[in-house]
Amino acid sequence: MHPSRKSLIMDFFKKSPNIEIHTSEVTEGVKESFEIHGKKLQDISTDVNQLSGEGKLIKIKRKNGFYKYDPDFEQEGEFHDFSDVDKVTIFGRDGYKCVICGLGQEDGVEIAADHKIPRSKNGENSLENGQTLCNKHNSMKKNYSQTEAGKRYFIKIFEDALKVDDSQMIAFCKDIFNVYDKHGVDHHIKV
Ligand SMILES: [Zn+2]
Repeated sequence: MHPSRKSLIMDFFKKSPNIEIHTSEVTEGVKESFEIHGKKLQDISTDVNQLSGEGKLIKIKRKNGFYKYDPDFEQEGEFHDFSDVDKVTIFGRDGYKCVICGLGQEDGVEIAADHKIPRSKNGENSLENGQTLCNKHNSMKKNYSQTEAGKRYFIKIFEDALKVDDSQMIAFCKDIFNVYDKHGVDHHIKV
């Protein structure tokens, strides 16, 4: 795999930590290594801006177009999210598909790497704590917890099964709901 524009840009900044660098200088600096791979380098200011949005670079407010890399700041940023490499590993393991609905990029659905146990609840940035979710289920999980999102999904299946009188599925869902009861994770939703 070719190094991405962003990783080349980060490499360039990492060579001069804590130095304020203008985007034009960055373009010059990464141009050569980028064009080795047979592509012309377009404007990089969007990439640099995104990197600052991701917390990897610091935008210098009083100097337009200047950014800097602060090693301490970046560690803080990475603490909050999976690295790009880990995201690819998580996506690959899950087949680039949402673990709840099975839809993915092939279906035109955007996917995201989600923390099973959220960072806010001290969930780790480990691969084991990562899972692939589609945008819809990602926002669903932000609003409800992991178990809630799962139970809501079974409630939906249960309701559909009731409509068509699918006794096998009704029995299956009832068993699932009993498991929620058994483990005391039933306080948030009632069937
Ligand atoms: Zn989904």
